[in-house]
Amino acid sequence: MRRIAIIGGGAAGLCCACALGEKNNGRASVTVFEQNDRVGKKLLTTGNGRCNLTNRAATVDAYPSAVRAFAMPALTRFSPESTIAFFEGLSLFTYTDDEGRVYPLSNQAAGVLDALRLEATRLGAAFCCDTPATALRSDKDGFLVGGQRFDVVVLALGGKAAVRDYPGETLLRGLGLPLTKTAPGLCKLRTDESLVKSLKGLRARAKLTLLLDGNEAAAEQGELQFADGALSGIALMNLSSVYARAALEKTVQAAVLADFVPTLSSEKLRATLGEIVRRSQREKCEDLLSGLLVKKLGVALLKRAGIRPDAPTASLTAAQLDALCAVCKRCVFQITGSGPMRDAQVTVGGLAQSGFDPATLESRNYENLYAIGEVLDVDGPCGGYNLQWAFASARLCAADIAERKL
Ligand SMILES: Cc1cc2nc3c(=O)[nH]c(=O)nc-3n(C[C@H](O)[C@H](O)[C@H](O)COP(=O)(O)OP(=O)(O)OC[C@H]3O[C@@H](n4cnc5c(N)ncnc54)[C@H](O)[C@@H]3O)c2cc1C
Repeated sequence: MRRIAIIGGGAAGLCCACALGEKNNGRASVTVFEQNDRVGKKLLTTGNGRCNLTNRAATVDAYPSAVRAFAMPALTRFSPESTIAFFEGLSLFTYTDDEGRVYPLSNQAAGVLDALRLEATRLGAAFCCDTPATALRSDKDGFLVGGQRFDVVVLALGGKAAVRDYPGETLLRGLGLPLTKTAPGLCKLRTDESLVKSLKGLRARAKLTLLLDGNEAAAEQGELQFADGALSGIALMNLSSVYARAALEKTVQAAVLADFVPTLSSEKLRATLGEIVRRSQREKCEDLLSGLLVKKLGVALLKRAGIRPDAPTASLTAAQLDALCAVCKRCVFQITGSGPMRDAQVTVGGLAQSGFDPATLESRNYENLYAIGEVLDVDGPCGGYNLQWAFASARLCAADIAERKL
């Protein structure tokens, strides 16, 4: 009987244990090593405890261009529909919201974890919890993990995001596998405190454009949240990963442009503001934008345009109205860095794609060594895409092990 070790009992490791159990017909034993006292702790925190387990739109084109070619075989072979069907097979039923995000019907991440854990157990996987693997030795007879010998090893260590410590780093470095630099992804972006102080806690819908060295790198429409010296919200978090990937390669000047009135063109907005003033519909400037924006945000934008909120609207000049319109449509936030890794949802970077065969996820340096999930240099946007990668990569690796290694 072949012995298979999976290092890491998270989304990818558990899904891999299930897939190997389905396919091995008693030809292999599967042991999952997990550093925590229980498997799947991070899964419990996903989707605000609801676990957004995939997205109907999670096809390869939705992932960053830097990861598409590498992730293509896994994501093509195991689609979002496959994920939904896989969980239905485990009697875990789902619903899809109007943005394509798929959640368990119970709205509880614990249900997703139970489905994976119980299935892996039913199919014979053994769990070694409280067992961080800090070293992995390879010789002509296979691999040694935690004093036990294995024929095949799957690295499913996850990334550095939102974890206290990451013993896997020593293990990966010890193997000499190529690693890229890493940075927090799907996180806050830091900006000048004075620009956001008065808006802390406020949420607004906006079209956001990320400028890197003055060039448009990505755009997102959705929620922007103002935090302590930082910007957040789903749309902003998606841009944070684009920024992180660029900043890994070289120093970049970054800025986020916010269009707070994306449904009106600049011309239409300017005409609207002019009309409000002409018809004396609002007496004071602080009320000028109240039909378009949350009042607090309107007041902050007035100040940015150099207009006193308590000034009478009748005193506004055409140049001031032009300036206000420009600030509403292109409010600039200079970016000074990313939020900390402990608050990030995903790691940008990891095991270098060049070290693994994308068709199987087997290492190019070590035969019978595989990597799946977030430990690899693959990340996706917010909304179920990272778990979809974890599941799809796990299935691809398990299929290759079952086809060629057992
Ligand atoms: C707050 C939060 C919310 C999120 N929400 C979503 C969401 O709703 N939808 C979505 O798609 N993605 C979400 N993500 C991202 C998603 O959780 C991860 O991308 C996904 O869990 C990665 O799966 P993985 O199995 O590769 O890694 P993980 O799930 O992190 O699992 C890795 C496991 O390996 C263990 N481990 C690590 N090193 C060792 C070692 N040396 N020895 C033994 N065990 C080890 C860890 O303890 C962990 O249990 C969220 C992330 C965070 C932090």
